[in-house]
Amino acid sequence: MKNNSRRKFIENTIKATVAVAVTGPLILKSETTSASSKIAAIATGEVLKFSQVPLGFDYKALEPHIDALTNEIHYTKHHAAYIKNVNEAIIAEKLTFTTEKEFFDHASQLSPKARNNGGGAWNHNFFWQSLTPSSTGPDGKIKDALSAAFGSFDQFKEQFTQAALTRFGSGWVWLVNVNGKLTIASTANQDNPLFDNAAVKGVPLLALDVWEHAYYLKYQNRRNEYVAGWWNVINWNEVNKRLV
Ligand code: MN
Repeated sequence: MKNNSRRKFIENTIKATVAVAVTGPLILKSETTSASSKIAAIATGEVLKFSQVPLGFDYKALEPHIDALTNEIHYTKHHAAYIKNVNEAIIAEKLTFTTEKEFFDHASQLSPKARNNGGGAWNHNFFWQSLTPSSTGPDGKIKDALSAAFGSFDQFKEQFTQAALTRFGSGWVWLVNVNGKLTIASTANQDNPLFDNAAVKGVPLLALDVWEHAYYLKYQNRRNEYVAGWWNVINWNEVNKRLV
């Protein structure tokens, strides 16, 4: 309800703006078109709104590798805040993107609030869906693809771990499908490989959050132990589905 009334307010605000624009003397055609498309997008309810994916397991389900309190705070505080903040930014800044793809295709033009929280919203949804308490190890086509790209799964694991340990400060490590070539990439802050200005741009297959909030309660400064534990809880079935 709250959101509906907020949208209604914006819709009315935009209508008022257009009304002024139509009667004003110096209106550029593109401005009118832009305002009209905003109304159309809002009226049909198509404006992008990020939502938090349900966690597919209990907070304690990933123990001993990722502890319950870390998972709970990570999901209910950190991730929830990214979701709330990006949706606020979308409304406040009157962004008219209708899909996540469109949002990230314009990442370099977004405000810091929209960009950082949009990245945080998406990245954590992807992160949770990449985890499972019943990890089976890579199998099927992802196993073959990793061997083809890195020589073997062990070599991939070594290179990915190295990228995680050398990411300076807060950020993420990714396995990315770049036009059919599997590549390891690392991004700062909440950037991701979908950003229009990403150094390695492609389809994310797997992500590891190396922000301290992802491990500090249990591992303190020992990122290496967190990364070693994370390998035991990867949802390889999900990774396989992303490899198309
Ligand atoms: Mn995080």
